[in-house]
Amino acid sequence: MSDNICPDCQCELSWKENRYYCESCQHPVNKRAFCPDCDAELEKLQACGSASYFCNSCNELKSKSRVKVVFEKA
Ligand SMILES: [Zn+2]
Ligand SMILES: [Zn+2]
Repeated sequence: MSDNICPDCQCELSWKENRYYCESCQHPVNKRAFCPDCDAELEKLQACGSASYFCNSCNELKSKSRVKVVFEKA
């Protein structure tokens, strides 16, 4: 079960050229993360193989399980 779903057709997205891509719509999809506390867009940090999210507005790290992830057509 994947959480990476196309916003248009609900198909599972594939990973292509460093971004998500919908094979059935044939368009890239952007993944954006938003702060659960202040709704600002989060910065994705890659540390030791695991991703975490930083809010520049709250000035703190946000747990991956709490962030709001939005997929949108690129
Ligand atoms: Zn699609
Ligand atoms: Zn925040």
